[in-house]
Amino acid sequence: MQSVARRLAARGKRIGLVPTMGYLHEGHLSLIRRAKKEAEVVITSIFVNPTQFAPNEDFARYPRDEKGDVRKIKTAGGDIVFAPKASEIYPADFQTYVNVEKLSQTLEGSVRPGHFRGVTTVVAQLFNITRPDVVVFGMKDFQQSVILRQMTEDLGYPIKYVVAPTVRESDGLAMSSRNKYLDTVARREALCLYYALKTARQMVAAGKTRTAIIAQEMRAVIRATCPTARIDYIAFTNMRTLESVRNVQRGTVVSLAVRVYGVRLIDNMKLR
Ligand code: AMP
Repeated sequence: MQSVARRLAARGKRIGLVPTMGYLHEGHLSLIRRAKKEAEVVITSIFVNPTQFAPNEDFARYPRDEKGDVRKIKTAGGDIVFAPKASEIYPADFQTYVNVEKLSQTLEGSVRPGHFRGVTTVVAQLFNITRPDVVVFGMKDFQQSVILRQMTEDLGYPIKYVVAPTVRESDGLAMSSRNKYLDTVARREALCLYYALKTARQMVAAGKTRTAIIAQEMRAVIRATCPTARIDYIAFTNMRTLESVRNVQRGTVVSLAVRVYGVRLIDNMKLR
């Protein structure tokens, strides 16, 4: 892959990269289409990255469909699929990790320790292997997009960094490979995340900006839609620093993580 990328660069081709864990949906495909606008050759990586899963998480049962993925990537205009084996990315004596220290500790990082260290390590490797001119990530994984932007800047990668909007199902549920885990009832009640975000947006539009009060209302909406839901967090933060804010202001994003019948879902919305 690295020599292919070098040859492309030598021929003056602009390379776009879209990192994924596969089991692709419209959200992923929107990133490929976006990358295609920015670059002549778009590489989509498919790699279920073991180092970003904790031992108690769903690495082994994470959904996979490489054949279907390749077909979808082609239709979306992707040019190259890079799907390395875990042993190629992490040979037996592997011991070097990339860690974005501060931003990796809050929100998802506080519930999933070590998660972002796995993400930044693999994405740094993907950057080194595919040598992209532009990379596209999804806003769906808001904190991840902030952390990887920091890594890209800190390590001086000469890469244009694009974050594309979240693609939703027609009823508002953010698309996710993990939605496959939801049965009929859970799928319906999974809307609690979107309803809560909409409530936040409506309150801000009505001039209510105290985040504690908005969070209270969001919790009520979640309870009403999915009484058994377990809320990991509802957080109001600055979209670049991830520092929490007491009042919604310019650049405030609300993000939340909720367990719906045991399936952990995340979503977010920019409020201003
Ligand atoms: P994943 O395969 O879950 O690791 O996601 C790969 C990339 O797709 C990440 O940059 C995600 O943020 C992005 N992504 C996942 N779901 C969506 C969505 N519903 N809309 C837009 N981008 C998404």
